[in-house]
Amino acid sequence: MQTDSLVTLDRDHLIHPVVNYRTHEQRGVAVLEEGRGAYLRDSNGHELLDAFSGLWCVNTGYGQESIVRAAEEQMRRLPYATGYFHFGSEPAIRLAAKLVELAPASLQRVYFTLGGSDAVDSAIRFIVNYWNALGKSGKKHFITLERGYHGSSSQGAGLTALPVFHRNFDLPLPNQHRIPSPYPYRNPLGSDPAAIIDASVAALRAKVQELGADRVAAFFCEPVQGSGGVIVPPKGWLKAMQDCCRELGVLFVVDEVITGFGRTGPMFACKAEGVTPDLMTVAKGLTAGYAPMGAVLMSEAVYQGIAEGGADSPIGHGHTYSAHPVSAAVALEVLRLYEEGGLLQNGIDQAPRFEEGLRALLNHPLVGDARSRGLLGALELVADKEAKTRFDPALKLADRIFETAYRNGIILRAFADNVLGFAPALCYTGQDFDLLFERLECTLNAVL
Ligand code: PLP
Repeated sequence: MQTDSLVTLDRDHLIHPVVNYRTHEQRGVAVLEEGRGAYLRDSNGHELLDAFSGLWCVNTGYGQESIVRAAEEQMRRLPYATGYFHFGSEPAIRLAAKLVELAPASLQRVYFTLGGSDAVDSAIRFIVNYWNALGKSGKKHFITLERGYHGSSSQGAGLTALPVFHRNFDLPLPNQHRIPSPYPYRNPLGSDPAAIIDASVAALRAKVQELGADRVAAFFCEPVQGSGGVIVPPKGWLKAMQDCCRELGVLFVVDEVITGFGRTGPMFACKAEGVTPDLMTVAKGLTAGYAPMGAVLMSEAVYQGIAEGGADSPIGHGHTYSAHPVSAAVALEVLRLYEEGGLLQNGIDQAPRFEEGLRALLNHPLVGDARSRGLLGALELVADKEAKTRFDPALKLADRIFETAYRNGIILRAFADNVLGFAPALCYTGQDFDLLFERLECTLNAVL
């Protein structure tokens, strides 16, 4: 079909996530047609280096034939098996066991979802159920970080602390609270790691005291805040937050939807920091975007609490496509590529090149901060480097950069506050990074 007619059909019928509907109607869609490795081609024949792995999910890169074969074989054999009524399928069972093997030792049980938002939503429901089952039904309050992103479900969008997800949606809910983000570049206390960690712990403690420990259910956080602008807390921050939660009797939930599966180097960012969460949510890199799937992993204690509290009735939480066998077969092959296929190691090997390239751009007049962990990184653009002044939003700099980058053959993410986000696939080579930074510098120069 001609691109023009696709653009018209899109404008007239398809609602896109997180766009301004009026702007989208005027601007139209860019139709992506094909992908191979780290590269995409759009319907105008334009070749693009994807520096964002789709939406921080295609960690394997595009066109991995063995994943296609795994999906095809499973579709032929058994395209669907319900997880309801005590049924199951081999790939889903094997995948649950594999995730438990890879995850922090505290996590023993897995509930599968279709993505990250319903993983977060499921985690919230499991937590409410757990505390009710334990007879602590006052524990209904949730604490998250400012700039946190925890998806777009009715409750998860309230845990998300980005104003655009609240506006006109009557969020956050009265039981959803926030503490400041550990944002080294803009921390009023400066960038000293110990001071940042102490301030976060003190803020969490104060918030729990204000609400009452017997009313706080859980604290949710991302090991690196993704959609809030790739905010990288100091090493040791996650463990300190966990210790504080344990001391206060608050469940500690790590949202690894972006950071999981090699995005920051190791399989899970929290495991590498010696953290043992009560619950963990994952999605994205689990299937590398080749099929929809997410999961909630929970500790044996949380699982047993819910099971005991359930008495003789079913636990009323479920999805038709929970533990979908095709997605599970895809995930098993994706995990094999990370481990045996060497992708995780390549991501670790390439991370210094990525970090070096970002840091080199600190010399550019627009760039105030360069930050990364593994293959998750950002540049923060400022009007005045000394004062760290943000650009006037009316300039729409981020939008202009996104458009210019696209024309120059790269896809990056332009966040509010003029932060440029990057999440290259774990299959990137040194040459891919050379091309990325060459095109990126041209892009920044063009908008100067
Ligand atoms: N949690 C985090 C940390 C995320 O970054 C996202 C999505 O970007 C989600 C949850 C929601 O996942 P999904 O978009 O698959 O629903």
